[in-house]
Amino acid sequence: MLPLIRGSIGYAGGISAWRRYALQACSVLYVYFSWLFFPFVFWMKNHYWLGGYGGNVMKIFELTCDDLGREMRRGYGKGDYHARALYKSVFQKGRVDLGAVEEFQASKDLGKRVAKDLVLSTGKTGECIHEDATTKFVTILEDGQRVESVIIPMRGYSTLCVSSQVGCRQGCLFCETGTMGLVRNLSTEEIVSQVWRARFELGYPVRNVVFMGMGEALDNVTHVAQAIRVMQDQRGLDIPLRRMTLSTAGRIDGLARLASLGLGGIRLAISLNAANDALRSRIMPVNRRFPLAELKQALLNYPLPANREFLIEYVVFKGLNHSQAHADEVLSFVRDLPVRVNIIGYNPGKNALFEPPAEQDLQVFSEYLQQHGINTRIRWSKGRSIMAGCGQLASAKPSC
Ligand code: SF4
Repeated sequence: MLPLIRGSIGYAGGISAWRRYALQACSVLYVYFSWLFFPFVFWMKNHYWLGGYGGNVMKIFELTCDDLGREMRRGYGKGDYHARALYKSVFQKGRVDLGAVEEFQASKDLGKRVAKDLVLSTGKTGECIHEDATTKFVTILEDGQRVESVIIPMRGYSTLCVSSQVGCRQGCLFCETGTMGLVRNLSTEEIVSQVWRARFELGYPVRNVVFMGMGEALDNVTHVAQAIRVMQDQRGLDIPLRRMTLSTAGRIDGLARLASLGLGGIRLAISLNAANDALRSRIMPVNRRFPLAELKQALLNYPLPANREFLIEYVVFKGLNHSQAHADEVLSFVRDLPVRVNIIGYNPGKNALFEPPAEQDLQVFSEYLQQHGINTRIRWSKGRSIMAGCGQLASAKPSC
């Protein structure tokens, strides 16, 4: 650097030697100490009143109300009062017109600036299709990828099944999503926006959220964890942890991470489907990395809240996993674990490798577990004909 400066100053022929040395000294000082100004420039950039305002994108679906308070302080010199008003407007009223938010009316200019920077969702709602009361809808993401969500009616409210990835890398043999491979993880905003769309664009009273849509949620634990924090914020969507269920194929490292992030209170569903390593590894490759003994140990170590149980999901395939020997293996796996077992009849997709069981098969399997003291229920997935049942999200293209 120095020879370069010397060389360039050397061209300023005709000036006296002491001026040349002074110029050189100033140049050297500038080069060596200019970095001291960087923090100031960065700080100024984030303060509109110093002319640095602009390009301050606020993706509110990625923020808890406290996060938003920090953004308001940093970007606009405002605090929790305005953050709460904005958060309530977006997440409790589904309103995007900030001019109508009372707290912003005192300063129309502030409302305009915030509205300019605020990003609700980068995607848009695509098609939806209904079967009886079950609704499947598509979110078209900013990059054109599509994810599906399913709204399941309950008594007086709805449960929303959300996706956490486009595709999935786990490749379970019975799963339509698994046939796609992993395309990409969803961002926090893309996960939270599914709830917002279901509530405010489609008008369903979503009270419960289950991470059972496209993707293995614990393969995307960073964004899923933040989405959970945003969804449970009482000043916004207000869905408590006990009303959220996260289903995993058995990423036990993800379970530990979830607990370490203080989210151990979420309801956990384990997609078991076979309780011997040979069969499970065949139909669920994740089992080769995290075999059953390790999975069980992880569940024993998990900080399950008092009076809570693990949900064990067991999809039954015709002639594959419903003999008495299979049931005994399930009993052995769940011994010493507080569990409820859901027995689910397989929904064949378009290119299914397996066949659905007879109803009688489910009955016999379920009764055997019950006789051995296991709380067991039989479930047939809702929305089967619209490909909205378990493991069916991905390839069907709804059209309405
Ligand atoms: S069942 Fe779950 S973990 Fe397995 S491929 Fe499908 S989405 Fe992925």
